Amino acid sequence: MLDINEIYNQTSKLDAKDKALIQKAYDVAHEAHKDQLRKSGEPYFIHVFATAKNLAHFGMDAKTIAAGFLHDVLEDTDTPEEKLVEEFGEEIVKLVNGVTKLGKVKYQGHARHVESLRKFFMAMADDLRILIIKLADRLHNVQTLEHVRIDKRKRIALETIEIHARLADRIGMNNLKGNLEDAAFPYAYPEEYKKLQEILANTKFDNTKDLDLVTDKLTDELKNQKIHIVEISRREKYKYSLWNKLVKYNLDIEKIYDVVALRVIVDNIEDCYRTLGIVHSIWNPLPGRIKDYIATPKPNGYRSLHTTIFTGTGGVVEVQIRTPEMHAEAVYGIAAHFIYKETGGKNFTIKGSKDRKFEWLSQLQELHKTVDDPEKFLQHLQMDLFKDRIFVFTPRGDVVDLPEGATVIDFAYAIHSDIGNHAQNGLINNKNASLGTKLASRDIVEITVNPNTNPSSKWLEYAKTSMAKKHINTYLRQNSLLSKFRSFAKF
Ligand code: MN
Repeated sequence: MLDINEIYNQTSKLDAKDKALIQKAYDVAHEAHKDQLRKSGEPYFIHVFATAKNLAHFGMDAKTIAAGFLHDVLEDTDTPEEKLVEEFGEEIVKLVNGVTKLGKVKYQGHARHVESLRKFFMAMADDLRILIIKLADRLHNVQTLEHVRIDKRKRIALETIEIHARLADRIGMNNLKGNLEDAAFPYAYPEEYKKLQEILANTKFDNTKDLDLVTDKLTDELKNQKIHIVEISRREKYKYSLWNKLVKYNLDIEKIYDVVALRVIVDNIEDCYRTLGIVHSIWNPLPGRIKDYIATPKPNGYRSLHTTIFTGTGGVVEVQIRTPEMHAEAVYGIAAHFIYKETGGKNFTIKGSKDRKFEWLSQLQELHKTVDDPEKFLQHLQMDLFKDRIFVFTPRGDVVDLPEGATVIDFAYAIHSDIGNHAQNGLINNKNASLGTKLASRDIVEITVNPNTNPSSKWLEYAKTSMAKKHINTYLRQNSLLSKFRSFAKF
């Protein structure tokens, strides 16, 4: 019998009522799956228990953890839906049904891949918790892939990297993304995985001593300067992410400085910058490697200060500095962010989220409603979701999140369709810029509007975002219909 305390120990957020609900879900799932075995020969209940435990670990609410226990009950057992509704209510059963629907999608090459993504986005739009349960379920499945038939392994592994890990990344759940990818990596890309193992085994790469040295000296100096250290620890780069970085550096591991990095957690933002200053006063930083993700967070919301220093003993060490809040965000992502800003348990969808960090999500739902052709939808997705993003600012300091390569016209449409439709030119950092000028992160952008200016087909060449293209195309189409109508009338 698996000990339910293992679930409770993952989180401090559960009260007695929550625990009673979770215990009931445990019992019902245990009974429903009692005669089923997994491919490994173990009781099926182990899988739903692991899923629920993952959800508790992500800090999810009791209803989501309960739904984790029940997620395969409707699909794989003959428990009637009415019975679940009776016992657990509509909300939990809706989550279970959502996960079941997602489960029917299988990765079978390109076309199905598109379909899977669409289903994920629909589910996400419905209730973000459905996606998170599915990811918790997938994490356990991919971690137990060795029991799956060989021909199925690769498909599941690829699907995990292509879809699940990307979604985890996009909702800022960095540890989950890393764990999904690392479990899938050996099955998805066996050759590459082997190569990485070889590289790691063959390099005398070991910066343990450097890390010890820096840790000791920095701990002392922070104490002297009266900066309270919440935690100072090492983080090892995830294997799949390390592999991707290696590929960019021609497999030269000597060029990768963050295989193992030092992570310093301090009380507040001010202490983060002070700590960075102290690090630089002791050790020389490598030029060009100081990254302020606090002032300019990564597209998925990640915040931290990064710097890479010469240790003075021939070594190089990356130091990451952040607050406990930033750390929680980096681990739990969207869950840390606004799932717990719930209002009466109903605010679990991302509709109308005012959180600019995740604005792309609501834009995507919008897109989902308007683009029906799966191929086109995928193109939009790849453009909008999976490519790198830049952050630019309005003169008032609002952040606008755009894909890399976006231009002034994209910015204009991102502010408002009317501003886009009548944009005459732009000011980038107070200098004149044409509508086709590419933007860079941190640019401050202003748009000059002229009511007599209208979109032209030239603008389509400037536009990078699907939102801008959509508005321009709509205008051009209406306008050409109008002019056809006019010439027809004249005729
Ligand atoms: Mn499952």
